[in-house]
Amino acid sequence: MKDKNSTNSSFHCANCGRFVSLAAKTVRNHCPHCLWSLHVDSEVPGDRNSNCGGKMEPVAIFQKHGKWVVVHRCEKCGKEIQNKCAQDDNFEMFLNISKNPSNQIPNPNLSFAPLRRTR
Ligand SMILES: [Zn+2]
Ligand SMILES: [Zn+2]
Repeated sequence: MKDKNSTNSSFHCANCGRFVSLAAKTVRNHCPHCLWSLHVDSEVPGDRNSNCGGKMEPVAIFQKHGKWVVVHRCEKCGKEIQNKCAQDDNFEMFLNISKNPSNQIPNPNLSFAPLRRTR
């Protein structure tokens, strides 16, 4: 099992299996490649108070104060949690989610080049 006490750590994504490195500025709580998350937080992102452990699907995105926010829904218990997007998240996936309100997201196991945004 992974170390659940660490709030900002690298991990392997439970959905796509890719290695996820540390986020630069924020607590990483979802995969930047497929945007899936794990249900480890209870109320506040980063509190790690949930024992659910279900996979969380990115179901919606919206902009809040100019920042992108992704909504994750737990496959296991149905809880929805909003998370701020990280700078290196795959923005193409966000666009796909926003274009498909019926939760149709591409199979993350298909090979596609991770979108690297250069500043
Ligand atoms: Zn992933
Ligand atoms: Zn859950």
